[in-house]
Amino acid sequence: MPLVGSKPEKGIYKCIVCDQKVTVDYRNPILNFCPKCDGINFIKMEGDF
Ligand SMILES: [Zn+2]
Repeated sequence: MPLVGSKPEKGIYKCIVCDQKVTVDYRNPILNFCPKCDGINFIKMEGDF
C-alpha cells in the first residue's frame, strides 16, 4: 500500500476511508493526504481510468 509522501507509480489511487480518488502523475508525483478526510491509506485502482 503506497504511503502518503511517497512517490508511487503513476496512476489513480483511492482513499480506503471515503473513496476519494487522487491522481499521481508527472505533475503530482507525490501521494498526498486525502483532500476530503485527511486519510493516509490509499489503494491503487487497477484498470479503472
Ligand atoms: Zn478520504
